[in-house]
Order: sequence, then C-alpha cells, then structure tokens
Amino acid sequence: MSQRIKKIIAAIFVLLLLAVVTGRIAGPAMLEKSVNKTLSYSPIAISPEAEALHNTLMIMDWHADTLLWDRDFLQEASRGQVDMPRLKKGGINIQMLTTVTKAPAGLNVNSNSADTRDNITALALIEGWPIATWTSLLERALYQADKLADITARSEGSVSFIKSKKDLAAHLGRDNDGLALLLGTEGSHPLEGDLGNIDRMYAAGFRMFGLTHFFDNALGGSLHGESKAGLTDFGRKVVKRLDDLDVIIDLAHASEAMAAEVTLLSSRPQVVSHTGFKGHCDTPRNFRDDLMKSIAAKGGLIAVGMWQTAVCDPTPTGIAAALKYGINLVGADHVALGSDWDGSVEAISADAVPQITQALLSAGVSKADIAKVMGANSVRFLETWLPDN
Ligand SMILES: [Zn+2]
Repeated sequence: MSQRIKKIIAAIFVLLLLAVVTGRIAGPAMLEKSVNKTLSYSPIAISPEAEALHNTLMIMDWHADTLLWDRDFLQEASRGQVDMPRLKKGGINIQMLTTVTKAPAGLNVNSNSADTRDNITALALIEGWPIATWTSLLERALYQADKLADITARSEGSVSFIKSKKDLAAHLGRDNDGLALLLGTEGSHPLEGDLGNIDRMYAAGFRMFGLTHFFDNALGGSLHGESKAGLTDFGRKVVKRLDDLDVIIDLAHASEAMAAEVTLLSSRPQVVSHTGFKGHCDTPRNFRDDLMKSIAAKGGLIAVGMWQTAVCDPTPTGIAAALKYGINLVGADHVALGSDWDGSVEAISADAVPQITQALLSAGVSKADIAKVMGANSVRFLETWLPDN
C-alpha cells in the first residue's frame, strides 16, 4: 500500500471517529430538542387568589418519560419539559416517572406493528446505554429504574423514591419542600413473556405497570396496535400477579377491549395515567366516555394529559377545559393530572402548572374540586393502593 493511500485511510478513520464522538455528545440533546418541544402560547396571568390557592395544593402528576433522556434530572435543563427545579417552580410534590422500552418507527395513534424498526434501540446506542439494553427490553426498564435510584441517591435527601404507603407517609409528613418520585412502565413488554420478571421489576421499584404501549404485545392489544384485542391468557396472569403485589395497573395505551376486561377481572381500581376524554377531544388516543365512567365507578383515576391528541388544546386553558369535562363526566374524585412530559410531545413545561390552577378558577371550578384534581385524589389513591411497606 502506498504512503498516500495509508494517509487517506488514516484521515477517513479519524473523521469517522470524530463523527461518532460528536454524535455521542451532541446527538442526544439535538434529538431531545426535536421531540420534546415546549408549547408556545400566551401565558395567562396568575391572580393573587390563584397563587394563594396554588400554594396550598398538594400536586401530583402521573406521567413523565424523562428517564429516557440523557440529562441530569436534578439540574434545570434548557430542553424537555420537566426536571426537579421546574417541578419545584410549578409546585408539584409528587411525580410518576415512566420507562419507555420500545417505540416502533412511524409511531401513530391508529395502528402500529410490533415488528417495525424500534427507535429505542437507536436511542440506546446514541445515548450510550449499557450493552445489555441493546437487545433486552427488561434491561432497558431496569436501566431507567437505576437512573431514578441514582437521582434519589445524589439528591441529598431532597428527592425520595416512593415504593410503599410507609414511604409516602414519610414524604407527606416532612415539613420541607421535598419532591417524591414513583416509577412505572409504559407497557409490560419488558416482562419478555416471563411472569417471574414482574418480581425483578418490583424489586427495582416499579409500582405502576402499563399493560401495552403503542403495539400489541404478549399481554394483548394496544389502543394503537393492529388487533385491538383484549387480554391474552398471559395478560390475565399478569393482572392477577400485579393485584397480588399491590401494584397499580395503568390502562393508558390499552385497547378499549383490554381496559374493559381489566376493570372486570382486577380486584383493585386502575389509573389511566395520561389520556383525554373522547367526548371532549375526539381522537383515537382517547377512551370512550362510558369506559371512563366504568373505570371511575370502580374507584379509578383518569389523569388528564397536556398534549394535543389528549386535550385538543394543550394550553393551560385547554387543559382546564378537559379537567372540567372530566369532573362533570366521572366526578371530581376521579380526575387527576397526567402530563406526558418528555414523552415526545409538545407541552407546557412543569413550571407553568400554576396557570392550570388559574385556568380552573377562571372556568368556575370550585376550590375544593381544584384541590382534588391537582393532587388530593392522587395522594388518596396512593395512600390506599400502594403496598404497605
Ligand atoms: Zn404514553
């Protein structure tokens, strides 16, 4: 080989290496910026009355996919919609973080195949996740659980990881402004078809299990899958095992057939962790109103989302309209917040949540009902349905 060709090969190698290194550094931020956009809208002014009310509220949100992204949750970021500082500015006391482990390319709310190329594999490579996560959905869930445990460990006591009634009572009993996090999964495909993996995920702190995400899996049909089927035999076994462990079942993304079946099969109430109401916002992302009523009738919670296909108007005024619709449909005791922050949606950021309190007041919702939907219902649900210890 001539010296000249050797030099050219060496130059190409250096350029490739540079591309990989800069891709690893700049790629995750660029990618997140392109999918988790902050909604642009005219902020609404907060009255002294709304501010005073907001400061008395216990606030919980049931859904954020922040663990998927490559940034430090304890630091305020200039991208995405949520992190600890922005939760504190928004007055949020409790946040459920949910893990995403598989997302078919071309994701849509109508129909997705489980066999389509998976975007999370590419994300795991770009963000430098451990090699075990490249091929295992369970490892992806456990890796994100580790990230939550790490956030808690580094927070010097200001963030707690809630796994039981006892943990929750300790959080509620504190007189400082600490933040509590819970862990859930978007879909139970990380079980990889093995009931025994429920125990591994439980040990890692998972206390809420969605059954499906955007595609049909071993448990049954997704709301956005191909079959729209109910539970499989395996799905029924998973529901029973989760009930036995006092784990919360999340019906978000389940097919309507599956959700209806779970309300009959399970001995416990369920949560729909991020959704809208079809009667208020008629999109394929939302459940029929009568299904929402039957979920609420069993003591369940409907947590209202903050993005377009959930509420049709994702401004604070639009979110308040969806919450008010829910109060009228299923009763003020069964409505909650379920933003879907950092879930590849365009949404208001967590620090804008006081504007929802203002919008609810302006819409004529009573202060007692505002307190319920902003978080009191969620706290009561956790106090009742988390494992004791
Ligand atoms: Zn989701």
